[in-house]
Amino acid sequence: MSNVPDGVPELITHYIGGELVPSAGGQTFGVLEPATNTEYTRAAAGQAADVDRAVAAAAAAFRDSGWADMRNRARANVLNRIADGIEARGERIAQWESFDTGLPIAQVEQQAKRAAENFRFFADLIVVQTEEAYRVADVQLNYVVRKPKGVAGLITPWNTPFMLESWKLAPALASGCTVVLKPAEWSPLSVSVLPEIFEEAGVPAGVFNIVHGIGEEAGDALVRHPDVPVLSFTGETTTGKVIMRNAADGLKGLSMELGGKSPNIIFADADLDAALDSAIFGVFSLNGERCTAGSRVLVHRSIYDDFVRRLGERAERFQVGLPADRGTELGCLIHPEHFEKVIGHVEKAKAEGARLVTGGKRPAHLPEGNFLEPTVFADVTPEHTLFREEVFGPVVAVTPFDDEAEAIRLANDTKYGLAAYVWTNDLKRGLRVANQVESGMLWLNSHNIRDLRTPFGGIKASGVGHEGGTRSIDFYTDQRIVHAWI
Ligand code: NAD
Repeated sequence: MSNVPDGVPELITHYIGGELVPSAGGQTFGVLEPATNTEYTRAAAGQAADVDRAVAAAAAAFRDSGWADMRNRARANVLNRIADGIEARGERIAQWESFDTGLPIAQVEQQAKRAAENFRFFADLIVVQTEEAYRVADVQLNYVVRKPKGVAGLITPWNTPFMLESWKLAPALASGCTVVLKPAEWSPLSVSVLPEIFEEAGVPAGVFNIVHGIGEEAGDALVRHPDVPVLSFTGETTTGKVIMRNAADGLKGLSMELGGKSPNIIFADADLDAALDSAIFGVFSLNGERCTAGSRVLVHRSIYDDFVRRLGERAERFQVGLPADRGTELGCLIHPEHFEKVIGHVEKAKAEGARLVTGGKRPAHLPEGNFLEPTVFADVTPEHTLFREEVFGPVVAVTPFDDEAEAIRLANDTKYGLAAYVWTNDLKRGLRVANQVESGMLWLNSHNIRDLRTPFGGIKASGVGHEGGTRSIDFYTDQRIVHAWI
């Protein structure tokens, strides 16, 4: 195929103990380009034996490579060199990831920058890290000794894969853990740039390992492995439940970043142009395949009809196109299976009586691949499936509300609690609502921007535990206390 980007490997291999290796048994799986749904390469399909090899390499490196005991400044220098390597290859990472996932190239470029920033941030954090110490009545000194937990198992999803992989790799490595990463099977390509970056940066062999493969095979073997004491997972809530059950016997440390159905509450006194921009960005950027997507827009009834009309008009102007085109705002969904799932949600919403304002079908100019028009449903009620289930695509449900109490009730009428957005120029009301909406993260008159020191994660069915800033370091380390008699 002519449009395959330069340098794409003929086989995407594992990376174990510093070597690019196929599966021991030779198993592979096909990788599709979502713009055409043709197989463009194959990837190694990791089995339990491959996971065993990777965990053994990571355990040996934890013991012997010096990584776990390295001074923080020295480890931070390595992390900064990884960031340099990512920045130097930003174009290739974005090109590969856009090709492999269907995300618009201009948006993926930003994700590659965020990935580099994740490494720089955790490099800075460990250099300024402090530990608790207490002197008790001149007779006792109580102080914390922080130790990396060992081999961390990192399991990641296919939406913005490179950035999300970096969000786990950077703090795990900064903490002194060694890692086995199991990337999502629908998006294995962009992570292939990391081995050479890590080698150039001076990461000892075995500290960083990748095992590709199917979740129920490679992922499951990693979850159950007795020498992996800590697992960080990002993915669907249903998968998270399976992983928690399977990790229980090993009493593993778990961080679970799961799904969402986040409300975007728009009051009549809001800056409506900004709120509209945000509503569009929140559900149509990154193809709507965004865990924090504002996929339920709740609008005050006094502005409802006008807002729905403007949202529909803006959605119609949103440019659907080939992922590699710079003008594209909405590319194609990751995989035909996911495309069918999203279309299924559209059909169900129609059948259940939600009002289709615009979209809901493939754009006429894109006859193949997983392309869907930006889709707006209005008059969606809590009884509709679209109000409750995560679609993970460019489909938004709009619902009117009459007063603040109803807005809060609707916002909280979901099993999820990942993100929320509130738009109002009445700051007192904004803070009041922020206090009552059940979500791990809330943006007031803003979206998307966050300081990496803050907690990231959901509540309710959207997650267990929080990452971000020192919380990530806490997750990957044991804190032991010494009570010394002086
Ligand atoms: P998924 O749960 O299908 O897969 C995620 C990863 O888990 C993949 O690597 C997969 O191979 C692996 N996996 C699947 N079954 C497994 C098993 N039994 N044991 C071990 N590993 C297994 O999720 P997805 O479809 O790749 O990603 C989309 C989901 O991720 C959405 O629900 C989205 O909201 C969520 N997400 C959440 C966040 C967050 O920070 N909260 C961020 C991004 C995505």
